[in-house]
Amino acid sequence: MLTATQIDLQARARGLAESRIAPRAAAVDRDEAYPWDNVRALTRAGFMGMTIPKAYGGAGLGILEAVLVIEEMAKHCGVTARIVVEGNMGAVGAIMAYGTAKQKRLAAKLVLAGDKPAICITEPQAGSAATEMTTRAQLRGDRYIINGKKHWITGGGISRLHLIFAKVYDEFDQEQGIGAFLVVRDKPRKKPETGETLTLQDILAEHGCGLSEAAARRRLRRRFGKRHALGARWTMRRGSKDHLETLAALDAAKGLIIGRREPAMGLRGIPETEILFNDLEVPEDMALMPPRGLAHGFGDLMRAYNSQRVGAATVALGIAQGAYSLALAYAGERRQFGRPIAEFQGLQWMLADMSVKLEAARGLIHKAAASNGGGGFPDMLQAAQAKLFAADMAIEVTNNALQIFGAAGYSRERPLERMVRDARMFTIGGGTAQVLRTLIASKILNRRLPQTRGG
Ligand code: FAD
Repeated sequence: MLTATQIDLQARARGLAESRIAPRAAAVDRDEAYPWDNVRALTRAGFMGMTIPKAYGGAGLGILEAVLVIEEMAKHCGVTARIVVEGNMGAVGAIMAYGTAKQKRLAAKLVLAGDKPAICITEPQAGSAATEMTTRAQLRGDRYIINGKKHWITGGGISRLHLIFAKVYDEFDQEQGIGAFLVVRDKPRKKPETGETLTLQDILAEHGCGLSEAAARRRLRRRFGKRHALGARWTMRRGSKDHLETLAALDAAKGLIIGRREPAMGLRGIPETEILFNDLEVPEDMALMPPRGLAHGFGDLMRAYNSQRVGAATVALGIAQGAYSLALAYAGERRQFGRPIAEFQGLQWMLADMSVKLEAARGLIHKAAASNGGGGFPDMLQAAQAKLFAADMAIEVTNNALQIFGAAGYSRERPLERMVRDARMFTIGGGTAQVLRTLIASKILNRRLPQTRGG
């Protein structure tokens, strides 16, 4: 049962979603452009950083309140809902739980101003097996030097705050475990830093190399000869060998570099990119220190991920709810064989099953959101159950909603095909359906996972 305050919050979110977010959703998908206008609206409404404690300027609300807002956004725009997830859960939760006062102030300031933090875990060779990551954070004096490569990082090129996971090595090169580090990038330039094809001007704007274009061109010509002297129309692909060699020649290859943007199937308004770290220097006081210390960092930090999972489950739920509502209305309007298609039992049973599954997912999500798995985070088992069920359900429900529309659902003029594409991601990102099933089994059987490297 929701309280009166929670119902008010939900109504406020619904009002914003219907009036401001829904009208732009198709364009966000079509243009693959980050919805800065929506971010401004979310920020003004207080939906970014609402879980941040009051002492740091947030509203001090819980995961359940965030869930209510996320579902309303996701009914119309999955991208905007994901921004609310990352503006309240994931990195925000980890930093608010384990961060120093300085780190909390830093994160709160950015998020409350609309920044969607990026969580950098996955690597090309370390997906489900995240602990096999090879990104290194080497302690040198009073700072860590980070080297490695991540991919599929949501918000690469638009996020300012990054929570970067890496294997930590002490000064004697002894591995300490997996830790996380806060890194803040400069404000994104006017042009998002995720364009696939780059000109020299783009690179100079992005990295502020302190060189004029003519000087940069002279330097490149000295280093590479004619290949880099093709005038204003010379371009390179982001993340390509040319791009990285050009950065190196301009002395701009150090630090955090945004690589290739993934041509994602759905949720296209948020860039998913590679992020490369080349001698990225992070002051020691920006290492996030979980309670059991660095050696247990990953386990502790993953507890914070339980709220992110509940958030992801809610986006899946909202997308499915949006598709179902459209299908329900259409079934009442569309006539075939002289009557509304809603009068055919084949569709009635489809709609009935859809409504049951939506309610079941919502029940699991609200229960997980209100649960306590320690440290202020949802319970791991309940979060995994909610995400697993909601993700599978969203694929089925959005597909059936499209089916109810017939050819009209297959048209890009309606939102159904976008909803099918958007819903497809949730059995993959943030723990695949298979990995979650194994996690759930290990919890209910009280056994270590047998399907891991050490198992
Ligand atoms: P793999 O691990 O290679 O898995 C391939 C297949 O094998 C899957 O079906 C998987 O279920 C199965 N499999 C693997 N291991 C097992 C096992 N033990 N038992 C049974 N089956 C198994 N990562 C980030 O760090 N930050 C982000 O912001 C982020 N955003 C993302 C956004 C999107 C849209 C997507 C699609 C991904 C994102 N990811 C992000 C990456 C995501 O977390 C990984 O894709 C996920 O962990 C799976 O890794 P993988 O894709 O390498 O698949």
